[in-house]
Amino acid sequence: KLSLRLERVASYIPKGSVLADIGSDHAYLPCYCILNGIASSAIAGEVVEGPFQSAKKQVKQNGLEERISVRKGNGLEVIEPGEVDCITIAGMGGPLIASILEEGKEKLADVKKLILQPNIGAISIREWLIENGWELKEEEILEEDGKVYEILAAEQGNPNKPYLNLDRDLLMGPFLIKDQNAPFRKKWQAEVTQWKNILNQLQGAGDNEKTSERKQEITKKIQLVEEVLD
Ligand code: SAM
Repeated sequence: KLSLRLERVASYIPKGSVLADIGSDHAYLPCYCILNGIASSAIAGEVVEGPFQSAKKQVKQNGLEERISVRKGNGLEVIEPGEVDCITIAGMGGPLIASILEEGKEKLADVKKLILQPNIGAISIREWLIENGWELKEEEILEEDGKVYEILAAEQGNPNKPYLNLDRDLLMGPFLIKDQNAPFRKKWQAEVTQWKNILNQLQGAGDNEKTSERKQEITKKIQLVEEVLD
């Protein structure tokens, strides 16, 4: 059975998509998508040998070798331009996901949908989307086994459209802020607590340019988040 997290990622994939799942590990997501009639065919990309072998094994066990091509390689290098219309990248940090997109930009011209699931640092992804003409269309935040995950779905379009208050919306997510569900509040309350701890530690660290810059940065983030949570 697929995790709730990956099930929710799959729910954003348009029916009939040709899918590439990058960093696929066991290829659970592409297998699920084919078995449930969500994707018509799929590529599972993996850069590390162990997970690559796990993906091949999983695809074989499900008898899906004709429908899922398991490929070893870094990021988007496993796909040809025009080969897929939907890409999922899940279970990594936001900066890594953004760097995979950045390095593989030339593969994205014909891609219709990106579904990205950062474990941390979603801000890096929102920044990348804005800079590269991708419009954030939907967001979700969910909790599973005590961990909070975000899902961002984007299409080519007007990248500035969803943003009103840029700093705040980039950090916390324009759609997630509107919803403010329980996982959202839990995540940001925990972040604020952590930032306040860091501030306390920095108070004791003496004053130089670097620490006062860092303090200002954190203070600003605390303000942004507390305004939203109030
Ligand atoms: N996507 C699956 C999920 O959400 O459950 C697996 C997540 S796992 C934590 C991250 C996987 O991404 C690892 O198997 C890792 O080897 C792979 N990975 C990391 N960087 C990658 C890259 N640049 N290209 C392809 N795969 C990568």
